[in-house]
Amino acid sequence: MSLRPLVILGATGSIGRQTLEVAAARGFEVAGLAARTPGPELAGLASQYPDARVVAAGGSTSEREQLAASLSNEVAFGAEAVTELAATPGCIVVNGLVGAAGLRPTMAALGAGNRLALANKESLVAAGPLVMELAARAGGELIPVDSEHSALFQLVAGAEPAEVASLVLTASGGPFRGRIAAELEDVTPDQALAHPTWKMGKRISVDSATLVNKGLEVIEAHVLFGLSYDAIEVVVHPQSLVHSLIRLTDGSFLAHVGATDMRIPIAYALTHPDRVESGVEFDLPGRSLTFEEVDLATFRGLGLAFEAGRVGGTAPCVFNAADEIAVQAFLTGRLGFLGIAEIIAHTLDQMPPEPLESVDHVLETDARARSLASSLVAGAC
Ligand code: MG
Repeated sequence: MSLRPLVILGATGSIGRQTLEVAAARGFEVAGLAARTPGPELAGLASQYPDARVVAAGGSTSEREQLAASLSNEVAFGAEAVTELAATPGCIVVNGLVGAAGLRPTMAALGAGNRLALANKESLVAAGPLVMELAARAGGELIPVDSEHSALFQLVAGAEPAEVASLVLTASGGPFRGRIAAELEDVTPDQALAHPTWKMGKRISVDSATLVNKGLEVIEAHVLFGLSYDAIEVVVHPQSLVHSLIRLTDGSFLAHVGATDMRIPIAYALTHPDRVESGVEFDLPGRSLTFEEVDLATFRGLGLAFEAGRVGGTAPCVFNAADEIAVQAFLTGRLGFLGIAEIIAHTLDQMPPEPLESVDHVLETDARARSLASSLVAGAC
């Protein structure tokens, strides 16, 4: 297997760091590292890879000068430099950026014909049809990194398309599984951040507690695999050992089972169609797998995602942007937990869906949805 060099966007984040672990274990060359802030975290990583090009999207002038002075690497700054890095030819680009900032780099990577190992949800949620169309046109290869979509990607590859009745995404249920809405009114950010099975960043942890994360994943699955929303199911599976399933037309299921360790789907995205040893130990004796129906009345965010997905156009982009603002407001004590779904619903109500035109249109919609959601949050307190 020939190893293409890696460009890692969001290098200091959870996906980025685990990608670097996989890269070190598998002997990948690291050709580029990008992060949002030019702080000591990025400096520390970059100093381990002196041949990597380093890009920081943001930061003050003095932070940028400090980073450049502390490194022997080739260093660049700004969002455009991140996008340029993603277009480095002949690479595997791992996009672990958070938020809409991941969209242009996704398009650049695919446009350059690179393999894109995609962990940035916004790319598929907000701009799915544009991303898939570009991948098909430019010959770029898109391999999902998210555990559920990596599982589905592998399962679908082993089945005849006509024999797949539905995709079944599993949800851990988050820290509030089994509770009803009235019991969630006063939950704190710390409680929402205590995810039972996966260790993740803050927004995705809150999104897992509201099931909005599963909603985003439903939209991504629709975009990636082309099945209608009626053929996408969500089932609660508290152990998070079944990463997803497909329901076949004869009534049987195929499941993807394994440890809750992101290094496995990351490695798969880098080495597909080959499978490599991950070093992760996992055995079945003593484990039990249980499944429950999802409580759509309590976790309204999931139903709203299905609605936004069915509406299509800019609606999924608005759904995502409103959620990001609402989660920030919740984390900073300006909004209650149940307010997150309220803000999403009101933002969707007040922004009529439009057909998706371009990446600029998506980013402009994202900005408008954020500002509307922010004013709705301000009005709600
Ligand atoms: Mg997931």
